[in-house]
Amino acid sequence: MHLARFPRVRLFPTPTPLEKLDNFSRALGGPEIWIKRDDCTVVATGGNKVRKLEWLIGEARALGATHIVTQGAVQSNHVRQTAAVARRFGMTCTALLEHRIETNDRDYLNSGNVLLDKLFGCLIEYRPGGVDMNAEAEKKGEELRAQGVNAYVIPGGGSNRVGALGYVSCAQELMQQADEMDLKIDLIVTATGSAGTHAGLVVGLHGVNAQVPVLGIGVRLPKDRQEANVHRLAEATADYLGMTGGIPREAVVANCDYVGAGYGIPTEGMANAVQMLAREEGILLDPVYSGKAMAGMIDLIRRGEIGADKRVVFLHTGGAVGLFGYTGYLETAMEA
Ligand SMILES: *Cc1c(COP(=O)(O)O)cnc(C)c1O
Repeated sequence: MHLARFPRVRLFPTPTPLEKLDNFSRALGGPEIWIKRDDCTVVATGGNKVRKLEWLIGEARALGATHIVTQGAVQSNHVRQTAAVARRFGMTCTALLEHRIETNDRDYLNSGNVLLDKLFGCLIEYRPGGVDMNAEAEKKGEELRAQGVNAYVIPGGGSNRVGALGYVSCAQELMQQADEMDLKIDLIVTATGSAGTHAGLVVGLHGVNAQVPVLGIGVRLPKDRQEANVHRLAEATADYLGMTGGIPREAVVANCDYVGAGYGIPTEGMANAVQMLAREEGILLDPVYSGKAMAGMIDLIRRGEIGADKRVVFLHTGGAVGLFGYTGYLETAMEA
């Protein structure tokens, strides 16, 4: 595969840091834990969507787009990062925000990511929970095109075969970085949601024949549906890259036991994981994705399902701005 065949814009310096978490590893008495700092992708406080946007905005520019349409939940990190990158390239961004969680919480509805969306001048429209948001975004794109606007529609989470190239590239970057540091990786752990990050990693690792497994920790769907979504996108991405032979279904593994009551609904494990990493290492996770993924990894370590003799890389996908959308919950959790 040859990524330079695809249009790209450059948004942040690579490689993102790969750091050893000595205090955190010691506190768990478990494996050697490393963290890949994709929360440090610079734009708009960083996060994993910036990597995808290098390729998505690259394609949008190649097509002459002047207006980006995308969608997400009210506290979407993806929308915040897309809104910022669009401005950087002089494009207007319209975001459809889904009321995916029923809440009247002022912070959830106004602070964190939404506040930043507004600072970036993003045009926001709201939709009720449960509607087909990608279909709504396509409809909005059509509406703009009918008015003569060159609109480019980015699906939720930037998760299609173009956005997934960001994590194909990240897989190559991580393996090169690990080789240079003489770090033998036994397992990569990441949050998995709209699937682009997980799928891109699997394709990238397969493409360089790394033979390093990825464990995705789900934040929304049950395991069978999450794995099917990731595998479908991995196959489409591999095909787009011209890889032959497909992606083995067994290469896609998700654990969806740490979702709790639903997407974006906080769990005790998340609050504990966020506090633990903050206090052991001075690193901030987020309440919706990386906090739940870390809660899962901690539990799997404590149960011995991730062995104490392993070397694990946790992919930090960003999102700390979302903490401010959950102020009340976190304050209560810290008092407990
Ligand atoms: C979007 C997001 C994820 C999930 O990535 P997907 O590619 O959607 O699976 C994980 N962590 C954070 C902080 C995110 O914003």
